[in-house]
Amino acid sequence: MLTMNSFNFAGKRAIIRVDFNVPLNSSFEITDDTRIRAAIPTIQKILKDGGSVILMSHLGRPKEGPVDKYRLRHLLPDLKSKLGVDVKFAPDCIGEEAKTMAAALKPGEVLLLENLRFYKEEEKGDPEFAKKLAGLADVYVNDAFGTAHRAHASTTIIVDFFPGKSMFGYIMENEVSSIDKVMRDPKKPFTAILGGAKVSTKITIIENLLGKVDNLIIGGGMTYTFIKAMGGKIGNSLVEEDFVEMAKKVMNLAREKRVNLYLPVDGVNADKFDNDAQISVSPIDQVPDGWMGLDIANQTIAKFSEVIEGSKTILWNGPMGVFEMPNFQKGTVEIAKSIVRATEKGAYTLVGGGDSVAAINQFGMAGKVSYVSTGGGALLEYIEGQVLPGIKAIRGY
Ligand code: AMP
Repeated sequence: MLTMNSFNFAGKRAIIRVDFNVPLNSSFEITDDTRIRAAIPTIQKILKDGGSVILMSHLGRPKEGPVDKYRLRHLLPDLKSKLGVDVKFAPDCIGEEAKTMAAALKPGEVLLLENLRFYKEEEKGDPEFAKKLAGLADVYVNDAFGTAHRAHASTTIIVDFFPGKSMFGYIMENEVSSIDKVMRDPKKPFTAILGGAKVSTKITIIENLLGKVDNLIIGGGMTYTFIKAMGGKIGNSLVEEDFVEMAKKVMNLAREKRVNLYLPVDGVNADKFDNDAQISVSPIDQVPDGWMGLDIANQTIAKFSEVIEGSKTILWNGPMGVFEMPNFQKGTVEIAKSIVRATEKGAYTLVGGGDSVAAINQFGMAGKVSYVSTGGGALLEYIEGQVLPGIKAIRGY
């Protein structure tokens, strides 16, 4: 398999699938440039080798062709200043103009193509569309982990038109090797910490992880479906009645697989869903009528921390409570701190999937864990055990 570092891009035109799906304000200014910043090393390596770069991405979810809001030209000023070179722009991602502009690229030059999703063919994975994009370049680089779980034209189908000439960019390389460290080759003990609102959205992940982990810690809103399954009193806490049976199955499966399943033993309850609600602490299975559990409490924090700090591999997805409200964020903060301490003791720690990333960023701890995945949905599908088409297209599995 080709890699960024072993390939010399001199004299080559590389087309990179980047994830420039960044948030814009009403004046079309970028409000969070993380994704663009992340892609710079891949672009710069190619330029430094003496290659030229064609960038393609989606932005937003345009339904019917081009819309001003989702034009990639909005990103040009930012991209130019980050790269320190001029960036040309093709107002259509395929067609004669794009072809001419791509063919005219000289070493060290960069061309940005218009939003791929202005064509329905992109998400449909249309081979003719992929072929047109492929015709613009000599080599293909996929650096868009966030869309690796979709078999779109620019993420997957295009690889067929670059036999032996496609590779991961640095973001993809990092994401894939970090997740593989956890999911394929974890040092033991391996602990997964799952939180967040619902069991239903995490059930496949739980089932897959039960075949891999030594310890499974469950916190957050999904706790109460398990507590209900065990006959506890959960008051008005979040519960998914349809998943109570499933929670029982999960507990049995954990026993069968000899996985230690840790549920909270105490919780912080509120008399309404509000930061200024009245607060009480109770055993997790004795939430008073009319109250709801919104965070884990001290005994739980102590137990979870002990398990986490005795682990060599840790995967964390989902907050332990309603961390958006200051009065119910302590559980999530303390678990994040334990993960940081485990990292300091040599554990490999991966944080990913939506709200746990938001939480660790909010607490300023992102630099203190081994890896924070930017993947979102792609990461979740990977830990569900699915093969991601964008990854498979390049490395074969
Ligand atoms: P998810 O997207 O499933 O990871 O859920 C994340 C959301 O779960 C966050 O917005 C949290 O506020 C919410 N959450 C965590 N714990 C609880 C809880 N005990 N009750 C209600 N919502 C919760």
